Amino acid sequence: LKKLINKLDAILNSVTMYKQVLYVLITTLVAAFILSLFHDFFFSAGALVLTALVLIIVCFIANKALAVLTDADSNTESWLITALILTCILSPQSSVHGLGLIALGGLFAMAGKYLVTYRHRHIFNPAALAAVILSVSKLLPAVWWVGNPHLFVISLLLGFLVLRKIRRFEIFFCFAAVSLILSIIIGMGHHLGVGVVVKTAIESSPIIFLGTIMMTEPMTMPAERYTQLIYAAIVGLVFSSQLSAGSVSATPEMALIVGNIFAFAFSPKYKLKLHFKELKKLSPDIYSFTFASDEPIHFKPGQYMEWTLSHKSDLRGNRRTFSIASAPGNNELEVVTKIMGKASSFKQTMLELKKQDGISVGRLSGDFTLPSDKSKRLVFIAGGIGITPFLSMLEDLISRQERRDITLFYLVSGEADYCFNETLGEAAKLGVKVVPILTRDKPSSQWIGQTGRLTAELVEKGVTGHKDCTYYISGPNALVVAYKDLLKQAGVKGRSIITDYFSGY
Ligand SMILES: Cc1cc2nc3c(=O)[nH]c(=O)nc-3n(C[C@H](O)[C@H](O)[C@H](O)COP(=O)(O)OP(=O)(O)OC[C@H]3O[C@@H](n4cnc5c(N)ncnc54)[C@H](O)[C@@H]3O)c2cc1C
Repeated sequence: LKKLINKLDAILNSVTMYKQVLYVLITTLVAAFILSLFHDFFFSAGALVLTALVLIIVCFIANKALAVLTDADSNTESWLITALILTCILSPQSSVHGLGLIALGGLFAMAGKYLVTYRHRHIFNPAALAAVILSVSKLLPAVWWVGNPHLFVISLLLGFLVLRKIRRFEIFFCFAAVSLILSIIIGMGHHLGVGVVVKTAIESSPIIFLGTIMMTEPMTMPAERYTQLIYAAIVGLVFSSQLSAGSVSATPEMALIVGNIFAFAFSPKYKLKLHFKELKKLSPDIYSFTFASDEPIHFKPGQYMEWTLSHKSDLRGNRRTFSIASAPGNNELEVVTKIMGKASSFKQTMLELKKQDGISVGRLSGDFTLPSDKSKRLVFIAGGIGITPFLSMLEDLISRQERRDITLFYLVSGEADYCFNETLGEAAKLGVKVVPILTRDKPSSQWIGQTGRLTAELVEKGVTGHKDCTYYISGPNALVVAYKDLLKQAGVKGRSIITDYFSGY
């Protein structure tokens, strides 16, 4: 089973998050199309195709026009994702009048994305906002046809893949648990059995689609774990509450909008336009990019952001997640990345950036940050480019001359990759114990570290009282999974291991 999961992770890792959501939506719609051909489904196959086409065309044009009008960097896939989500939740139409209303829904969604914003960041899930406007105005209620027993198994499978990719199971389970408990309580008030309520809620409601595809939209979700859980609980509460006041009722789309308001209130509310300042080649494959901002940038060392670079992109799209490699305290952000072989169009464009060229950053997120308790003994395990969040933490400690008990195991495949001598040297002066490990190449006579893999023995030997430390692992997915297992086998408790998965490598 482990081998199978590793294989699955490797496949999920090779596609970007936006692409994966896109494939999931296309698969759902193709399944619905086939069902509507052979079954007595809720709508005809023709209506589904017409609705999808209208939404795709309207969202494409509105997205292009509004991006130009508002001078925003638009994501290559997100307009299409919105169009397909709307296809899954609005009632498919075939009349000219009905398709006109569908087109209006597409327009509302795109307008919500570009015009209902705060400091360039959109506040509401665009599809949910469009559905709320259509429902409250009584133009076209969202029917959420995607939540039906015929599509249950496929929704469950696809939802699992999304959650596995983004590792947000706890958010989904929190949402589902709150929503199911409330449904059971309300059901008992109506003398309904628990089994019937749960079966209906899971099979015949949009709980899976909403919780896996829509609730996890990164831009409108809180940045940190505990606020994400509150957000999920709020969406679950409203979703199952069956409350209504006049024409406003607690529909799934309304539940999401209420959650978005919470997220907006409790998360960093900005998207910044940065200007390219400097490129440094640190090794044959490792590059550092520095970007400057006109506004102050607030973040915790170890956090990451979403970077959007306007360019004619390849299939991997124009958005990437990068950890911030520099310390807070000035108006600059540094990204360190590996560029080798046939690089993506995103990275090729990064290499061609000229002074003052723009890049957008937003969605500051992550709990991979130093604990507030300064006496905690910490072990950092960095796999290759996974060093970046640690660089930010160490730079921050250096700038404040703060001492912490830290052992850093830094795994590199080639000696040239060990290229942060300045920061690591300064950190060592503050008492940070750095253990370099060369994993692939044969060491030269100058290599002063270990060779081979990081083993349980090496951890036990290098860290006194290793079972009582807090471990941070950062790097490519396979490495993080392997070393988390290794630490657990060495007696470290799962809750003392914090991970940052660098998907995409
Ligand atoms: C929380 C988090 C933090 C992260 N922080 C960092 C960070 O600090 N630094 C960092 O470098 N990365 C970081 N990443 C990973 C980053 O988001 C990218 O996924 C990664 O850098 C790969 O970039 P790329 O897609 O541009 O592909 P590349 O690096 O260009 O290539 C990666 C692989 O994809 C293949 N490939 C490239 N283009 C294509 C294509 N068009 N079609 C098919 N295959 C292709 C390449 O041959 C190569 O095998 C982070 C990820 C997460 C989730």
